[in-house]
Amino acid sequence: MIRNPVKFDTMLQQIRTFLETECKPIEPLVDQTDEIPESVVQRMRDLGLFGHSIPEEYGGAGLTTEELARVNIEVSQVATAFRARFGGNTGIASESLVVDGTPEQKRKYLPLLASGEVTGCFALTEPEAGSDATALQTTAVRDGEYYEISGKKCFITNAPIANLFTVFARTDPQAKGAAGITAFLIERGTPGLSTPPAYRKLGQHGSPVGEVILERVRVHESAIIGAKEGQGFRTAMKALNKQRINLAGLCVGPALRLITEMVRQARTRKQFGRPISEFQLVQQMIAESNTEAHAARALVLETARKRDDGVDVTLEASMCKLFASEMCGRVADRTVQVFGGGGYIADNVAERFYRDVRLFRLYEGTSQIHITNIAKRTMATLAV
Ligand SMILES: Cc1cc2nc3c(=O)[nH]c(=O)nc-3n(C[C@H](O)[C@H](O)[C@H](O)COP(=O)(O)OP(=O)(O)OC[C@H]3O[C@@H](n4cnc5c(N)ncnc54)[C@H](O)[C@@H]3O)c2cc1C
Repeated sequence: MIRNPVKFDTMLQQIRTFLETECKPIEPLVDQTDEIPESVVQRMRDLGLFGHSIPEEYGGAGLTTEELARVNIEVSQVATAFRARFGGNTGIASESLVVDGTPEQKRKYLPLLASGEVTGCFALTEPEAGSDATALQTTAVRDGEYYEISGKKCFITNAPIANLFTVFARTDPQAKGAAGITAFLIERGTPGLSTPPAYRKLGQHGSPVGEVILERVRVHESAIIGAKEGQGFRTAMKALNKQRINLAGLCVGPALRLITEMVRQARTRKQFGRPISEFQLVQQMIAESNTEAHAARALVLETARKRDDGVDVTLEASMCKLFASEMCGRVADRTVQVFGGGGYIADNVAERFYRDVRLFRLYEGTSQIHITNIAKRTMATLAV
């Protein structure tokens, strides 16, 4: 649902100009230094990028699912690290609060997340609880009105720079699986919470990812999202369901960018006395990539519209994430192929995006986990 097409187009145009003039030119710098300059982060705040999905009453733009999907397709046409800087706040780092937070929690934190004054993160994964997130071992032990939280989270996007942590911990040690998990909001500076330096990683340089160490972190019961114990996993799933559509949009953007880069390269690179764009086998890589990117875009926008209409899109969101992330991987691979040896050499757009987009098939549910879920839901819904 696009609420006000004229206003929305103006906003998209403003975002495109920012990306083209202020982000794209520094993509190699961000890759090399593993850092986004603070002046660019400030411009993101000024443009309201941190608050897109947060309701207007809390200072955000309150974008619909379709509007957010369209924005995601735009903002991911430059190096993925740029979007990752504000993406937590417009995605999983605020969504738990938006869907299940108490009015006091929303009033306290959402305006800070929307303005970008505070950076949030979503700390679910643990060393022994990845695809099976319900196996998490972090504990929260009640002590009067307080809880003492101990455990270790790993692979958490923006943990090294976050000020606000959504931490999932087990409040009921007897309960198995999803039951007995509670979501807590913990501010940086709370004694016992620490974040080691960011990992070195394959791609997405400039997007810090790291661990969260929790050593008897004492928090008041008012830090429980929704003020109710045992609801944490349900909250996480609600946030992740929407995030899967967001992420699928974030896979379409790089594919569209790479198709442009492929065409540019194919037109300018000459072999056998003519541009390689004249060879049908090169054309095939371009044609297949463009077709698949359009199919993913259509699926993402259709699913977003259904969600805006109130339809349960759990199955479709999983399909979006699976198809778009796998599609993006294929497009990045073909781009390296079209660039030839140059596409394998560092500091090349094909090489950078090839490394960056590899993550999409791994986080927020690996492809295997989505395939498993899609199969289960498909068979459950088809009574044949
Ligand atoms: C850069 C980065 C950023 C991340 N950001 C966050 C974040 O902000 N917050 C957060 O909470 N987490 C985050 N994650 C964690 C991410 O969601 C997990 O890495 C992911 O869920 C997979 O878990 P795992 O790495 O433990 O792999 P594993 O679960 O150990 O999986 C290993 C392999 O086994 C396969 N496998 C596992 N179970 C099954 C099964 N039942 N059937 C078939 N195959 C299976 C997987 O598909 C995979 O191929 C991030 C990860 C990375 C790398």
